[in-house]
Amino acid sequence: MSDLKLCQGTKCHTYHTKDRLKGMKGSKTYQTRRRSTFYYGKGNFCDMQCMYDWINKYIEQGLDHFGRTTEPKHLTEENAWQKTWDWNGGYDNRTYVYRNGITKETRPLTEQQYDDDNYTLNTN
Ligand SMILES: [Zn+2]
Repeated sequence: MSDLKLCQGTKCHTYHTKDRLKGMKGSKTYQTRRRSTFYYGKGNFCDMQCMYDWINKYIEQGLDHFGRTTEPKHLTEENAWQKTWDWNGGYDNRTYVYRNGITKETRPLTEQQYDDDNYTLNTN
C-alpha cells in the first residue's frame, strides 16, 4: 500500500467514479485515486481533469514564484540547436544528431550526450 502514489489533483475525491468509492458498506466515501503509476503531469495526476484542476488553482502562484515571461523570447542561430535523429540510413541505422533549426546544420551526437539534459550547444 505504501508504494502507491496519491493523485495530486485538488478535486480528485469529488469525482463520482466507481473506482474512487471505497470503504466498508455503510461508510463508503469517494477518495483520492491511489496507483503505482500516473501518466499525467510527470506522474502526479490520475487524469487530465485532475492535472488542470491543480493548474487552475496554483498557476498564478507558480508564475509569481518562478517568474513570468515579460518580453518575447527569440530563437536565433545560437540557441536553435535541437537533439534529434538522423533517419537517412533508415530505421536500423538511425543516429543521434544535433540539428540547428535555423541554419539546418547537423552535427553528430553521442547517445550519452543525447540523454544528458545538461549537454547543449545552445548558448542561451
Ligand atoms: Zn485524480
